[in-house]
Amino acid sequence: MTEIEKKKSRAPVPKDWTYAPAPESRDVVKLRERYGLFIGGTWVEPTESYETISPATEETLATVGQGTKEDVDRAVAAARDAYANGWSSLPGSERAKYLFRIARILQERSREFAVLESLNGGKPIKESRDVDLPLAAAHFFYYAGWADKLEYAFPNRRPKAVGVAGQIIPWNFPLLMLAWKLAPALACGNTVVLKPAETTPLTALLFCDVLRQAELPPGVVNIVTGDGRTGAALVDHPDVDKIAFTGSTEVGKAIQRQLAGTGKKLTLELGGKAANIVFDDCALDQAVEGIVNGIYFNQGHVCCAGSRLFAQESIYEPLVDKLKKRLETLRVGDPLDKNTDVGAINSAMQLERIKELVEAGKEEGADIYQPPCRLPEKGYWFAPTVFTNVAQSYRIAQEEIFGPVLSVLTFRTPEEAVEKANNTPYGLSAGVWTEKGSRILWMAQRLRAGVVWANTFNRFDPTSPFGGYKESGFGREGGRHGLEPYLRFEE
Ligand code: NDP
Repeated sequence: MTEIEKKKSRAPVPKDWTYAPAPESRDVVKLRERYGLFIGGTWVEPTESYETISPATEETLATVGQGTKEDVDRAVAAARDAYANGWSSLPGSERAKYLFRIARILQERSREFAVLESLNGGKPIKESRDVDLPLAAAHFFYYAGWADKLEYAFPNRRPKAVGVAGQIIPWNFPLLMLAWKLAPALACGNTVVLKPAETTPLTALLFCDVLRQAELPPGVVNIVTGDGRTGAALVDHPDVDKIAFTGSTEVGKAIQRQLAGTGKKLTLELGGKAANIVFDDCALDQAVEGIVNGIYFNQGHVCCAGSRLFAQESIYEPLVDKLKKRLETLRVGDPLDKNTDVGAINSAMQLERIKELVEAGKEEGADIYQPPCRLPEKGYWFAPTVFTNVAQSYRIAQEEIFGPVLSVLTFRTPEEAVEKANNTPYGLSAGVWTEKGSRILWMAQRLRAGVVWANTFNRFDPTSPFGGYKESGFGREGGRHGLEPYLRFEE
């Protein structure tokens, strides 16, 4: 028998199982030094400007326009002109073609947009690549489908476009919020002036290239960058027929006061303090993933984030143990690294707000847990945080933190869970984790929240309406419901 030769060397065993860096290249994005305002299909030189930065490194990325009242006037005039001279009378099937084109171009250029979104906003590339971009394109595809079917969506109600829509969006999902706003407005035959958030204007400005590529008629979409003053000028403009706003409850209330009595249509998508309710019969590991996704996705900069975890008392300890262990595996750091789970906080101001509320939580007596993680020296960072021993009256259980901070509370019975979950001025979303379908339905009927997720969290789909109760605002975005704010009916 021949001797079998023994294998001399084995495959090398790594000494360390941590992830190697996997940076996405920035080369795909060609940034200009300066950006103007996109009005009437051309770039208009702004009279004032400011610098936009990367929150992960604090480096300046570009100089962008600070839209003045006069710029807003010009943009509204361009939108009115485009509305009156073509867009509103274009057959729905023709409007649909433009929307389909925009959707396809976004898909084609998705890598470029994803990198820019992460650069300017600080969110992990795997989220901008796998969530923001596919969903933004899906919104345009979905509403393109409705553009020539409005009579079927609202039978016997003779739907007509509203006119010029003023749209103000926040910094947490810059391109996705742009898509949520623009797609239904254009599908219904409106023209638009959109103001991106001060800290994240770059993907909206890159999107102007897409509009040109799609050959959208000039003036149908105008993009005026700037801070809150630009937004206020848009809200105040007498020739705007409809305002759509996503942002803080405070600014939403001010806008509502400003518009009272003007006859302008208004939709408000405001803050939230969602309850994520975990029953003892749930699949625990799956629930832990859902909790992590619910609050640490996009650094917790999510209006529907599951920021209040309600654990049934009987599973409180194993649940919190598993959650803490899971937190140790979250990778915090460079948003452009494909392995990063938690990126940079969007701005110095938001970081201050998170720190202030976390301090309040400690002072009020809650117990804080943060996994060991080394945060980069430059930029704005906050470690994933869990507070236990939280009372319902604490600020961290009442106020929107809008950061990677979870407050854990407990309950014994489903009735108690409902009562505690509804004990908030907000009503945007909620989550229920249980194996019983009947319990899910029982809970969903009683939770005062616009969206109730069952055995999942933070699921978005263009076909599904999204919006709130109480101080979370009014009006719905997404689905057939999302068309209604952009239509008037001649009954
Ligand atoms: P804001 O409500 O101030 O910002 C939302 C948008 O409104 C931005 O484009 C902003 O411009 C604009 N804006 C600001 N003031 C006015 C005004 N008077 N009239 C018209 N438009 C205006 O939110 P912040 O960025 O200040 O964040 C503060 C808090 O709001 C966060 O901590 C979070 O709790 C909550 N928030 C909730 C969001 C949600 O999705 N529900 C989204 C963002 C924030 P500019 O960017 O220049 O300020």
